[in-house]
Amino acid sequence: MSDRRKQEALKAPLDSRSPLVFDTRELGRRPGALKRLSRTVPAPKDLGTEVVGVPEGAAMELDLRLESVMEGVLVTGTVRAPLTGECVRCLEPLEQEGEADFQEMFSYPDADDRSRYADAGDDAEDEEMFRLEGDLLDLEPVLRDAVVLSLPLQPVCREDCPGLCPRCGARLADDPGHDHNEAVDIRWAALEGLAGSMGNGEKDEDNEPRSDGDDPQEK
Ligand SMILES: [Zn+2]
Ligand SMILES: [Zn+2]
Repeated sequence: MSDRRKQEALKAPLDSRSPLVFDTRELGRRPGALKRLSRTVPAPKDLGTEVVGVPEGAAMELDLRLESVMEGVLVTGTVRAPLTGECVRCLEPLEQEGEADFQEMFSYPDADDRSRYADAGDDAEDEEMFRLEGDLLDLEPVLRDAVVLSLPLQPVCREDCPGLCPRCGARLADDPGHDHNEAVDIRWAALEGLAGSMGNGEKDEDNEPRSDGDDPQEK
């Protein structure tokens, strides 16, 4: 982010070879001229939130429609990208496919739209303005906003993820029969068994050979 601001402050020219910079020259500023294109680009870094995002360098598929209008170029598009993150319920890593739509107006560098936006009121003034640099447009800030806004706030590994046991922290998906009442019962049974064997355990052992000895008498 700070790099971006620095770049803007220095007014570094856009690099037409950058994967997220698009050339609108062939639209020729003729309103109605249209260009469709698809491009697969590596994801920029830090594209996401604390819990989920697009890994840096992952392949993002872009479908774009560039349309020349009176004051600039209207960009409409869809981006599809792999998402990685952490399930908020069970804390396991998750992988998903993300998709976001976006539309943004890039004004011509010399278009006088500053006064128009100022007249429209405070709301419009707060909106970020995008401008072409010569024939080039930088899609990265638009893409960044679209992707981040489309991310799930509470990502889960699957819709019905049962999460963690509130008592012991076990991952319930790994242990569907997880039940603390049952565990308590088993412990009680073990204690009862122990109490019983302490009382007459030795007698029982002594009785066994005798009972064997009784068998011949019965025959
Ligand atoms: Zn989960
Ligand atoms: Zn538990």
